[in-house]
Amino acid sequence: MTVTDLVSYEDALDTYDPVMGLEVHVELGTKTKMFCGCSTTLGAEPNSQTCPTCLGMPGSLPVVNAIGVESAIKIGLALNCTIAEWCRFARKNYFYPDMPKNFQTSQYDEPIAFDGYLDVQLEDGEVFRVHIERAHMEEDTGKSTHVGGATGRIQGARHSLLDYNRAGIPLIEIVTKPIEGAGERAPEVAKAYVAELRELIKALDVSEARMEQGQMRCDVNLSLRPKGTEKFGTRSETKNVNSLRSVERAARFEIQRHAAVLSSGGTIIQETRHFHEEDGSTTSGRIKEEAEDYRYFPEPDLVPVAPSREWVEELRAVLPELPRVRRNRLREEWGISEHDMQSILNAGAVDLITATVEAGADSAAARKWWMGELARRANEDGVELAALPITPEQVARVTALVADGSLNDKLARQTIEGVLAGEGDPDTVVEKRGLKVVSDEGALGTAVDEAIAANAAIADKIRGGKVAAAGALVGAVMKATRGQADAARVRELILERLGAKE
Ligand code: ADP
Ligand code: MG
Ligand code: ZN
Repeated sequence: MTVTDLVSYEDALDTYDPVMGLEVHVELGTKTKMFCGCSTTLGAEPNSQTCPTCLGMPGSLPVVNAIGVESAIKIGLALNCTIAEWCRFARKNYFYPDMPKNFQTSQYDEPIAFDGYLDVQLEDGEVFRVHIERAHMEEDTGKSTHVGGATGRIQGARHSLLDYNRAGIPLIEIVTKPIEGAGERAPEVAKAYVAELRELIKALDVSEARMEQGQMRCDVNLSLRPKGTEKFGTRSETKNVNSLRSVERAARFEIQRHAAVLSSGGTIIQETRHFHEEDGSTTSGRIKEEAEDYRYFPEPDLVPVAPSREWVEELRAVLPELPRVRRNRLREEWGISEHDMQSILNAGAVDLITATVEAGADSAAARKWWMGELARRANEDGVELAALPITPEQVARVTALVADGSLNDKLARQTIEGVLAGEGDPDTVVEKRGLKVVSDEGALGTAVDEAIAANAAIADKIRGGKVAAAGALVGAVMKATRGQADAARVRELILERLGAKE
């Protein structure tokens, strides 16, 4: 099905009611893997961070990472879940080259956390409650790279390379109950849920939750049922969607695709699908009509996990302020609308702006740079704001230079460009590039006199009372000073020299 065969979004929602299920995987930021002492640092030489345990060698034995369990409990508590008094790991058996043990150590019918909810705020301020089925502990797989084909997929490849550095890195999988009642806002709810979850994970300090680096990824399950009916339709499952915008687009596309299939008398097959960034479409992956037989059984090499109630209460007592509560507080401090705050959240800029304000910037100026120039740059480079090579302290310094008149907006942008290009701190960039505003009266006066002499006709008009013509002379001075003059002061000087009044 191509994009043009889709039913329009409005028509789809007139006839059908969407039901969603979101499965989010979060890679924890622990120093070592879930069941062995191997390092989890990114970017190391392939297969240098492995040992007999994470390579599944016979006779090796796993040991549970205590920080991994602690992180899972924190996430469970923040999601208002019940924390199991006793739970176990299970083996999920399947054969795949990137999984050296031929099973994934996961949790099955005994997750560490279950039955919770997360309240998410929509753009108009309304709060929507998403119910959580479970949050369980598991481990990541290795990474395959297929070499020689045109597409990087296994089809057509000459050979495949395997890197097991990622095998065994702790993951928490968070699964929602079916999300009903969102109607036309289902895609918005999906995006807001993942955004809120990401903020929560960051606030708990259990992972950086960078979606573009795959530290957090979302599977979007979606089905439609005729409006007014109860029974769920057949779902599709769009795998590994890795940005907030893509989560929203994937849900929207699947609503339109399901509606097209159903309204033409077809049936939806239960399958996994791949999302395509270029046009926002999904294509068929693996058919999943019957539950796969993973032959789950309790992991015999690991002891059960039985977190004491004292430990759980200790962790509950030190939970951070919830992101939504914190955002409402910040929103009042900054004097901005719900909608503005939502955009800041979606841009991943809440912490950055907060840190910039803490470093001394005015909140309006901090927002302006992060949501303007820097958001544009991040977008261009296809990275998240936090990944730009500029710190909140540096942005605060730029706003201070603007506030004291050393830089105007144009020069501030050039300063930021210099910092991003690795030329050093704002002061160093200003110094090296010679970016100071010319406010020295002598130099400005000379530039103004030259502009008047070179534009005699315009000067006469201004003398005659046509003050509006002053803009042309200001422009000439700005050009002559390469944009480094204080434009307001230039205007004053021109009017003074020509004896005109505003
Ligand atoms: P699987 O491992 O097969 O993907 P899970 O139960 O782990 O199954 O996850 C399925 C997700 O989809 C859950 O979030 C669940 O609430 C949701 N879900 C289940 N049935 C439907 C349906 N018919 N339509 C939409 N979502 C569904
Ligand atoms: Mg699934
Ligand atoms: Zn290991």
